[in-house]
Amino acid sequence: MTYRGRFAPSPTGDLHFGSLVTATASYLDARANNGQWLVRIEDVDKTRTVPGASDQILRTLEAFGFAWDGLVWVQSRRDEAYLAALERLAGQGLLYACHCSRSQIAERAVHTASDGSLVYPGTCRPESAAPLRLDELAPAAWRLRVRDEQQVCFDDLLQGTREELLGRDCGDFVLRRADGLFAYQLAVVVDDAEQGVNAVVRGSDLLGSTARQIYLQQCLGYPQPSYAHLPLATDAYGRKWSKQRLAPALQPGEASNLLWHALRFLGQPAPDELATAPLPDIWSWALAHWVLERVPHCISLRTPDVLA
Ligand code: GLU
Repeated sequence: MTYRGRFAPSPTGDLHFGSLVTATASYLDARANNGQWLVRIEDVDKTRTVPGASDQILRTLEAFGFAWDGLVWVQSRRDEAYLAALERLAGQGLLYACHCSRSQIAERAVHTASDGSLVYPGTCRPESAAPLRLDELAPAAWRLRVRDEQQVCFDDLLQGTREELLGRDCGDFVLRRADGLFAYQLAVVVDDAEQGVNAVVRGSDLLGSTARQIYLQQCLGYPQPSYAHLPLATDAYGRKWSKQRLAPALQPGEASNLLWHALRFLGQPAPDELATAPLPDIWSWALAHWVLERVPHCISLRTPDVLA
């Protein structure tokens, strides 16, 4: 089976060093396995999309020497596919409408889920899981019913074995929001399956979402990809660089030096003299020497001081 990986940025701003780390690792792992590498624009949350950011991201990737396979998929154009998946879940009695406000959930919730949200206390969950059509669901947030006692277990290639009890660590989660937007969890699972992605290499900020994505794959009868969650690049205070925290945007003029730093951050022993080499030379070295297992097996790692 051909390896198929992807890089799936959200167009909420410019790419930064953390994005470069993810793009580089997913790209090199795909190429080292003679695989394909796709780019997908994850603009499913239209309220967070920054105009022009998608084009800027693609231009930056090109300037850094990334070459992707096939067309770039854009989530905001995929409503029909997400609706079809919801239709199937409703037909299995797994969806219900939830009218709770955030404060109502906060008042009643007892546990924090693995992704940092609150475990939904089940206020609107119907007794029976009766099959429905989507037009029978009220226009509210739609939640996926989890099987409380079911355990989801997966072997992350970098973070080791992870286990979650769905009722305790996840709870019924939203697949369509009250404002009508599809949830990231749904979009990512449907797109990975429809694009034939079988290897997910991404940041550890999504480790806590993986069990719910695997559960959703099981509900929809999709195959499960392999997972490797990379260390997150943090600032000197251990805080994640993010577009919201205004991490410095990647500058194409510094592409070779930044790529060299990304390789070192990823535990690849790029020689010192390569730091000032032309971009194609750094890529040739990286493609010839990439070893996923060398990536530090930790959740976060400090960004090199020269870049912070
Ligand atoms: N769109 C997500 C992000 O930019 C990545 C999702 C994924 O890789 O599964 O953080």
